[in-house]
Amino acid sequence: TTIPAKGHVKGKVKIENATEATCEEGGNYDEVVYCTVCNKELSRTTVKTEAKGHVKGEVKIENATESTCEKGGSYDEVIYCTVCNKELSRTTVKTEAKGHKWNEGKITTEPTCTEEGVKTFQCMVCGKTKTEAVAALDHNWNEDFTVDKESTCEETGLKSIHCKRCDEKKDETTIPAKGHVKGKVKIENATEATCEVGGTYDEVIYCTVCNKELSRTTVKT
Ligand SMILES: [Zn+2]
Ligand SMILES: [Zn+2]
Ligand SMILES: [Zn+2]
Ligand SMILES: [Zn+2]
Ligand SMILES: [Zn+2]
Repeated sequence: TTIPAKGHVKGKVKIENATEATCEEGGNYDEVVYCTVCNKELSRTTVKTEAKGHVKGEVKIENATESTCEKGGSYDEVIYCTVCNKELSRTTVKTEAKGHKWNEGKITTEPTCTEEGVKTFQCMVCGKTKTEAVAALDHNWNEDFTVDKESTCEETGLKSIHCKRCDEKKDETTIPAKGHVKGKVKIENATEATCEVGGTYDEVIYCTVCNKELSRTTVKT
């Protein structure tokens, strides 16, 4: 008489050949069932697991170059996976040139009444210089006339308004001649009358200023 086979007895599911999923690649494992009596493999199913995907880390700054007065700089904002360290993104950010920081400037060429001057500025960061024109001052006229040439008894003089800074003159005006100033009558060349011949004398008037003879009258006695 034949005794029927007992049939296998399924054990618990066992996991075998597991490979971990990585950020980019899926893993897999086998679900295996053995007979608890004879240990024969009764079934084996391979299960695939999904890739985990990258995990973004914090933004890191790389390749930074400082901007200068005249040139912009740049830096990279980079994100790496915290698990596999792969570079996930890189963005280059440009920074603007800082521009010069000029000092308050110094007059390097003084302006005159008629000529522009020069003001020089220096960048406090890089030392570069630039210049700017300083407006001419214009004449600074005196309030009062200055006598350039005194008038005399007979000749006219000249006066004008002078610039306080330079030799320029304006409003040149003629000063009239003063005219002579008559002094007292003086007696000159007197000759005494004698018994027979009359005498004479001159009445002379001189200018008290220039001493010029203004009149001479001969009087007979
Ligand atoms: Zn068995
Ligand atoms: Zn990764
Ligand atoms: Zn500069
Ligand atoms: Zn002047
Ligand atoms: Zn005179």
